[in-house]
Amino acid sequence: MEQVHLTGLTEAELREFVKSMGEPDYRARQIFGALHRRRLRSLDGMTDLPKELRAALAERAAVSTLTVESRYISEDGTRRYLLKTHDGLPVETVFIPEERRDTVCFSSQSGCPLQCSFCLTAKLGLLRTLTAGEIVEQIVVALNDAYGQGARTPRGTNLVAMGAGEPFLAYDSLMKALRIMAAETGLHIVPNRVTVSTAGIVPRIRELATVPDRPHLAISLAAPTDELRDELMPINRKWPLRELLAACKEFEKSLRPGERFTFEYVLLDNVNDSDEHARQLANLLNRHQLRTKVNLIPHNPGDPLPYRPSPPERVESFRRTLESKGVHAFVRRPRGRDIYAACGQLSARRAAANNPSPALVHQLTR
Ligand code: SAH
Repeated sequence: MEQVHLTGLTEAELREFVKSMGEPDYRARQIFGALHRRRLRSLDGMTDLPKELRAALAERAAVSTLTVESRYISEDGTRRYLLKTHDGLPVETVFIPEERRDTVCFSSQSGCPLQCSFCLTAKLGLLRTLTAGEIVEQIVVALNDAYGQGARTPRGTNLVAMGAGEPFLAYDSLMKALRIMAAETGLHIVPNRVTVSTAGIVPRIRELATVPDRPHLAISLAAPTDELRDELMPINRKWPLRELLAACKEFEKSLRPGERFTFEYVLLDNVNDSDEHARQLANLLNRHQLRTKVNLIPHNPGDPLPYRPSPPERVESFRRTLESKGVHAFVRRPRGRDIYAACGQLSARRAAANNPSPALVHQLTR
């Protein structure tokens, strides 16, 4: 019999499940709290459950399915976890401490089917879409590692679906994971603290706009024209800029007061980073009257990617050109580049090959 993955069940589903075992509702509450509030990774710690029940659960269910293969700690404090699914596939999660909050960047797929030319994850291809439980577990692993199992988190936790994979091709898992994590009796990370980044799966952008309690949205653009975007992000051949921006326009109607959505733009030296590209980008957004902001991400290099990051002066000039045309733009500081934890670098590397200070790479085998 296939084992039930408890971490991937909503509290209501957990109630159904314990009922099928002849147990009362409050057992579901206990188990849900143990998994998500106390962040337990096995049945052993659930000493408030009778021994027989734990034994019965052990036969039918698994608490955790991801195992920690290695952990890398960057000189800037960022942590990358290389996890493994029960069927042996790599999953990567990044914990990014900031002054006022922590951000956990999670993966929605093992590998990725989209072939963005500047992204290392693309080299893996799609291995498999993750389940809701596998998404939730990533956050549990990161928080436990940072603060200790079940310990209160001192700062707020934000989540970004910006790890490996295309979250909108994992839509059902993603939305279910967000529901589970929002529960007050569990992790209590509400959708308002979550940002989902998409390469531009147009029907899902439209669908997300209709979800009442939805996360924030970011869209990866990387080019201001179809010609260039076709080349850098082949998904553009399916949903070109016209359709993408029309969906964004539709999404804009669902924005709450004060909410904005963002465009991400990776800057590749001599490819998409000229002032002319910046003007084209500003014109494109202005033509669609999109009141968004643009996050500029200097390219994070990695073998065998054929690009270099734009020099800082170029990044600044690009940003200023956008601003001069009324488009708000911010430069993102890369985090965890030295341990292959930065945007576009997640490709299950076991050690950062060209890490400048290997002494800082801690490996943890459990
Ligand atoms: N598939 C989703 C989620 C990945 S998010 C998406 O495309 O949005 C990762 C972000 O990092 C995206 O904005 C992507 O364009 C950007 N990115 C990918 N490779 C990068 C690289 N090598 N350097 C900098 N940013 C990169």
